[in-house]
Amino acid sequence: MAISVLYSPARYVQGKGAMADLGSYLKGLGSNPLIVSDEVVWNIVKETVTTGFTKEGLEVTRVPFGTYATPKAVDDLVETIASGKHDVIVAIGGGSAIDAVKAAGHLAGIRWASVPTAASSDAPTSALSVIYTEEGEFIEYRFFPHNPDLVLIDTQLVANAPVKFLVAGVGDALATYLEARATMRGQGLTMAGGRPTRSAMALAELSWDLLWEYALPAIDAVASKTVTPALEAVVEANTLLSGLGFESGGLAAAHAIHNGLTAAPQTHGLTHGQKVNIGSLTQLILEGAPTHEIEDFIEFTTKVGLPNTLTEIGLSNEHTAELRAVAEAATVEGETIHAMPFPVTADLVFDALLAVESISRRVRAERGLPEPVLHVAP
Ligand SMILES: [Zn+2]
Repeated sequence: MAISVLYSPARYVQGKGAMADLGSYLKGLGSNPLIVSDEVVWNIVKETVTTGFTKEGLEVTRVPFGTYATPKAVDDLVETIASGKHDVIVAIGGGSAIDAVKAAGHLAGIRWASVPTAASSDAPTSALSVIYTEEGEFIEYRFFPHNPDLVLIDTQLVANAPVKFLVAGVGDALATYLEARATMRGQGLTMAGGRPTRSAMALAELSWDLLWEYALPAIDAVASKTVTPALEAVVEANTLLSGLGFESGGLAAAHAIHNGLTAAPQTHGLTHGQKVNIGSLTQLILEGAPTHEIEDFIEFTTKVGLPNTLTEIGLSNEHTAELRAVAEAATVEGETIHAMPFPVTADLVFDALLAVESISRRVRAERGLPEPVLHVAP
C-alpha cells in the first residue's frame, strides 16, 4: 500500500500587525537575513520591518525583485546570498518573489521564510516553487526537502492591498478541495510524494467551506481596508489551508489546465488564481460533476469576481489552435492531471474547455448575473 505524507511549514503566523514581529520570529532562524521585495511592497513595509529588526539587533539588507521567478532571478539571489554571507532569506511580497526565494534558499543551503503581503495564492507554505519564463510561461515545478521555516502574514496589509489579489487567492484556494477530492478518489500521488492524508483532505474541505461562507464579506472588508473575522478566515483559507491542502491533498486537472493556459498569450496579464478558476470549472465538466455543483460554482465565482468563461481569459471557442495547445500542455506526461481518477487525454480536455463558455453564459443569464467582459492581454 502507498504511504501517505503530510508536509507543513514549521511556523505559521497570521494577524493584524504581525509584520512588526517579523524580526523576533526571524531571530530564531538566523543572524544575517536577506530580504527580497519589490519597490512597491518595500515602500509599504520598510518602516515597520526596520523598527522590528532594530529591536532584535538585526541588520536590514534588502534586494529588489522583478516580476517572475525565472531561473535567472533564482541564480542571482543565490549569488547575493553567497556574497553577503546571509544565513536566512525572506521574501516579502507576492507569490513569485516567494517562489524565487524558496528556490534560492534551497540552492544556497540556508533557511528561508515567506512573508506574503497579499492572500493571492497558496504558494507561501509549500516546499516547492513554480518557475516561469520572463514572459510568465510555466517551465517547471522545483521540489525542496523541507517547507519554509516561517510563514508570516499581516492581515492589515492584505486588507490594504488591491482586492484583485484576495480574489485571485480565492480562485487558487477553491481549486484545492476539488483537486484533493479528485486525487483521493483515484490512485494519484500528491506534491508531497505520497497518497493524500485524511488531515490534508479535511483541511482542503475546511478551506472550501470557509470560502463559501466568508469570501464575499472578506472582499467587502478589503474594499474598505478593514480587517474583519471574515477576512481573517479567508486569509487563513487562501494561505495556510489551501497551501497544506494542495501540497498534501493533491493537485489534479485544475492546475494542469492553468499551466497549459500560461502558454496562450491571450491569457497574459491574468493572475494565477484567475487562470486556476478556469481550470477548476473545466475539471468539474471533465469529471461529470453534478449539474447543481457546476452551476453553483459558476454563480459563486461570478459573484467573487473570478473568470468562468473563455472570454474573460481572452479566448473564445474559435481559438481552436490555442485551446488544442492548452489541452496538449495540460496532459503532458508528469502533469498533475494524471492524478484524476480516470485516464485523461488532450481530446477530453479540449472538449471540456469548449464546453465552458456556453455553460457559464447560460447559468449567468438564468441567475441574473452580468455577462462576461473580454480580457485583453497587455
Ligand atoms: Zn495554485
